Amino acid sequence: MNKLSRAQAILADLIRFPSISVDSNADIIGYLQDALTQVGARVTLQHDATGAKANLWATLGPEVDGGIVLSGHSDVVPVADQDWSSDPFEMVERDGRLYGRGACDMKGFIACCIALLPDLDVSALKRPLHFAFTYDEETGCLGAQALVGLLRNNPLKPSIAVIGEPTEMRVIEGHKGCCEYTTHFTGLEGHGSAPDAGVNAVEYAVRYVGHLLEVREALKMRAPHGGRFDPPWTTLNIGGLHGGVAHNVIPGKAMVEWEFRPVQPSDYDYVTEEVRAFVGEVLLPAMREVHPDADVVTETIGEVAGLEPMERNAARDLVLALIGANDVDVVAFGTEGGLFQSLGMDVVVCGPGSIVQAHKPDEYVEIAQLEMCLNMLDGITARLMEAQ
Ligand SMILES: [Zn+2]
Repeated sequence: MNKLSRAQAILADLIRFPSISVDSNADIIGYLQDALTQVGARVTLQHDATGAKANLWATLGPEVDGGIVLSGHSDVVPVADQDWSSDPFEMVERDGRLYGRGACDMKGFIACCIALLPDLDVSALKRPLHFAFTYDEETGCLGAQALVGLLRNNPLKPSIAVIGEPTEMRVIEGHKGCCEYTTHFTGLEGHGSAPDAGVNAVEYAVRYVGHLLEVREALKMRAPHGGRFDPPWTTLNIGGLHGGVAHNVIPGKAMVEWEFRPVQPSDYDYVTEEVRAFVGEVLLPAMREVHPDADVVTETIGEVAGLEPMERNAARDLVLALIGANDVDVVAFGTEGGLFQSLGMDVVVCGPGSIVQAHKPDEYVEIAQLEMCLNMLDGITARLMEAQ
């Protein structure tokens, strides 16, 4: 069987595992583990707190620094309330396209990675080939965040990560992060005629929002030179403000929903520190002077690190050379790439299929895209067999 037919057969198998983010991914991870173990990979599974989900980290080749990570998430978005032309978990081929949930996002890439294995001369690898297959990407990169913790303590340092999210095999070197929060204010209820006797949660929430808006303006001034994002600075949005029961009651509870999209790690630190200082040094002391149990608690809904475009990026340069392209771009969607970048790796996003089809009914990947991806992966393994 040639590599392309093999990739298609593997993709059909992978699509048959539903692996929707809320459910266990044990079956698909078991399948990938078997395929990797068969060719002698050293495989580590990292389970989540429930034990139902796992990341897979695998290495082929020598135990040395450097080498390349191929990264994909094993979970897919749900199909509920979507109108599919056929069973989303049974791959169907029509007009050179393979249909099924996860076909492009991103089981097509994972199928290509696994299709490489039977023909690979592992003993010829001079630097390691690593595989990172994660859980819960679609719900905030939770699996990859855990994996980064594991890799930080790993004595071996890979140098490049290729994230196979669907880019139609275009070379992507950056995206903004996405950080979403709900901030809960607890004050002290009271009668509207005696405002000083209560702690007005809505008023403190409004002051908090006011401070966030000042931070938003400051972020514009911090935009990096030559940034290619649109807009080029870190944006901040207030998505919701809830609280209060009646005109004449001091509200005891309020809630602010907000998000920001960092273009550089220092903006993440800046926003976090600004908010921490304002709550800790301004709001809480004022609230607790009246009511010691008053509180402001921020709940993290999701934090996806951005992928910052870098002047020097060996991952980008390698993939450009392998696929014979000159154009590099940035995209609006998030990936696990920023997390690998935070470990000091050079990162590029390049994978088969289009983000336009991701998350939609009748998701598909073109067979021609899988072929391009297999060619890129062949180039990657050939590179790992060359002397450094
Ligand atoms: Zn994805």
